[in-house]
Amino acid sequence: MKIPFSPPRVDSIIINEVTEALQSGWITTGPRTKQFENDLAKFCGGGKVLCLSSATSGLELVLRWFGVKEGDEVILPAYTYCATANVVVHCGAKPVFVDVNPDDFLISVKEIEKAITKNTKVIMPVDFGGMPCDYDEINALVNCKSSKSIFNPETEEQKKLGRILVLSDAAHSLGAWYKGKSTGVLTDITVFSFHAVKNLTTAEGGAIVFNMPESFSNEELYKWFNVFSLHGQSKDALAKLQVGGWKYDVSVAGFKANMTDVLASMGLVELKRYREDMLPRLRYIFERYSNALEQFEWALLPETETYDKISSYHIYSLRIKEFSEPMRDKLIAKLAEKEITTNVHFIPIPELSFYKEKGYCSDFYPIAKELFSNEISLPAYYDLKDVQIDYIIKSLLEEVEAIIKRS
Ligand SMILES: *Cc1c(COP(=O)(O)O)cnc(C)c1O
Repeated sequence: MKIPFSPPRVDSIIINEVTEALQSGWITTGPRTKQFENDLAKFCGGGKVLCLSSATSGLELVLRWFGVKEGDEVILPAYTYCATANVVVHCGAKPVFVDVNPDDFLISVKEIEKAITKNTKVIMPVDFGGMPCDYDEINALVNCKSSKSIFNPETEEQKKLGRILVLSDAAHSLGAWYKGKSTGVLTDITVFSFHAVKNLTTAEGGAIVFNMPESFSNEELYKWFNVFSLHGQSKDALAKLQVGGWKYDVSVAGFKANMTDVLASMGLVELKRYREDMLPRLRYIFERYSNALEQFEWALLPETETYDKISSYHIYSLRIKEFSEPMRDKLIAKLAEKEITTNVHFIPIPELSFYKEKGYCSDFYPIAKELFSNEISLPAYYDLKDVQIDYIIKSLLEEVEAIIKRS
């Protein structure tokens, strides 16, 4: 029974919508992208949404807009995907990694507090696996007197905000809840990913949600970023195409990171059935795993619901108590022999060559290091069948017991 890790849901409804977009005569950014943006804002319960080619480009555009540059520091968890850190490097600024909580993989607010300096411009919390970070505490931290008093604003935007910006990497957490609010409106700016393995996919894609304090206009930010993501050109392709509308100007040397209507058509379908269809299915799969595994002393199950949070069930991050890294790797190899693809989320960023060579060392992030050593992510996707779930559980139990016996 061949089981991939996270194939996208591509059914006839998706194929029909994509075909319609292709046949519509408009394939790049246009009406479908704009519709998807509006639907996303409704879905989040507020904010203004701009769709882009990836979450990575969304994160980078925000850092660039805020004026993050050499000498600045951006605080982020050591336990994330490399994109969160790479965009900081692109801007010439310094990624300042902090450790995560041992129980939920999320950035530790205590560690953020210790890491804030006069150079800190942005904090990028990551909603690991689909669980929102502790946003009330993080927002309180950037608004408290002591962090505001050392904040050193250098650009117009920084002066206007008067404090550290909170930019949420919500690549995993579309549709998750925090204190009754949806991700997207929990902090200043949120970025979602629609990459092929994410819960909602447009093959490649991302979105920025602007939810800035009142001194900013989310509408104006949307307009500015729209231009910034299209070469800084004063007119987009659709506007230029209007009769006699050829002339344009360039106000800033912008990026090229727009979403296309072909891909937005996938997002439109998926978003419509996300809350009622996709999330319940993922939740069901998570519950099947947890119900089968909770009786085993060695199984550390991922948190998916607490008194104030509900996950979007993106990564089933199982940890196996007392497993060393080689034992975990052995388990992955054994499952692969049974044609079950699993994964590890994540290699702590300071372990990656580029960051190591810059002098980062994962020894400073003992919790991230420990979480990584015995984590294994199990397949979870819409089309995963019950018999496949049972096969995964049966194989996992056999292989874990065999590895424990041999050790
Ligand atoms: C996938 C992912 C990203 C990048 O998303 P793209 O849309 O591929 O750019 C960023 N952060 C995290 C935590 C991710 O898992």
